[in-house]
Amino acid sequence: MITSESGGTMSKKMTKERWNYLMQPFIGDEDVMLTAEELNEGWHWCEEWDGLLIHVDDDEFVSCTCGFMEKFRTPERIKAMQDKIAKWKEPQDAMQRLADLDEELGLN
Ligand SMILES: [Zn+2]
Repeated sequence: MITSESGGTMSKKMTKERWNYLMQPFIGDEDVMLTAEELNEGWHWCEEWDGLLIHVDDDEFVSCTCGFMEKFRTPERIKAMQDKIAKWKEPQDAMQRLADLDEELGLN
């Protein structure tokens, strides 16, 4: 899975098991809830990603347009996202990368 194998971009408190559990709304079980702490950390089921659980420091957040996530779009984070995009070098690379993620997640 994209964000968890290396543990790199995933929050320290978020375990793979917890993430998998929290992905249940993604497959239709909407009783699953994020804790207030997790919400404050920047976890959310992203509308832009059809309900995928993402963190504000994940690559996916670059294309998140959720209005309720505005408070996480700090100048620092926006800068970090721009750096991330720059690292992908060209818009095509970024698009390809997002397309690859889509495929990995079976969203196509
Ligand atoms: Zn979002």
